[in-house]
Amino acid sequence: MTILVGGCYCGNITVRVETTVPPADMTPRACDCDFCMAHGAEWISTPDAALEVEIQNEAALSLYSQGSDSARLWICQRCGVVPAVTCDIDGHRKGAVNRRTMENRDAYPAAEVTSPQSLSAEDKKARWKNLWIQKVVIKDCWDVGL
Ligand SMILES: [Zn+2]
Repeated sequence: MTILVGGCYCGNITVRVETTVPPADMTPRACDCDFCMAHGAEWISTPDAALEVEIQNEAALSLYSQGSDSARLWICQRCGVVPAVTCDIDGHRKGAVNRRTMENRDAYPAAEVTSPQSLSAEDKKARWKNLWIQKVVIKDCWDVGL
């Protein structure tokens, strides 16, 4: 089992991924939408993994909707970093993390460019359902139901 840890710059948002796939065998995906391009985000996920997102200060969290309004970007309002993206599909939360916010970020191969913006809302969800991390848990200090 490989444990991957990362998060935003100021420590408000941390992410922890448990996976059987080592970083060298993952393919980061550089989404070509304007949001991801502006942030330089490269998304990594393996379906078998488990993702835990922990929020220290929910008041300093922005959940920005993208991807036909079905994906939520977890942005820290203090430092501006985007460590994670999630999407609720058929009652299950799926997610991916941003390689650039991970420890040992250089352990991953070069990203390939992907273009989910060319897909319909339904096709986006179908893609993420198969590609993203299957098990996502959000831990927030106030239990406000993120
Ligand atoms: Zn931050």
